Amino acid sequence: MPHQMLTILWNLNEIAKKNQTGPIACHWCNNQNNIIKYGTYQRCELCGDRQVRIQRFLCKHDRCRRTFSILPHPFLRIARFSLCMIAAFLQLMARKISIAKICRRLGISRTMAYWAIENGRDILDWIDREAKTEPTWAPFPCIDPPGHWSEFIRMFAMKFYPQRYART
Ligand SMILES: [Zn+2]
Repeated sequence: MPHQMLTILWNLNEIAKKNQTGPIACHWCNNQNNIIKYGTYQRCELCGDRQVRIQRFLCKHDRCRRTFSILPHPFLRIARFSLCMIAAFLQLMARKISIAKICRRLGISRTMAYWAIENGRDILDWIDREAKTEPTWAPFPCIDPPGHWSEFIRMFAMKFYPQRYART
């Protein structure tokens, strides 16, 4: 992996460990009281094979009682990409650089590249559209993550992984 990109990924991983999640609210019912810590699980860092510990919570609100986690900035659900990696990827694509070369430069696999081709533009366009409705995280969720990253990733999960994260 090129030195510069590795440094960026390392920094992003370190940022994630600072756990700048924003206010804790239930993913399912948005309740902010009556939430208890409820174990942890591991997820992969943005590069390499190391894992980060993610806190799980249990919402004790009467009609909810479901578990959830809040991924720390800059992690996104399921994707091993951060928003700035998606933006960098799309910029390189726009410059007509070959996928093989982009993979080498960003230190990502072809599978990840195809994921970014398929989803990257949709994600950034959705952020632009949503930002116009002035959610707490506007204009961009990576600005001041301790203030509102949790609200952003809640919306992100519901939008892009509705089968798994939409409210039922
Ligand atoms: Zn709840």
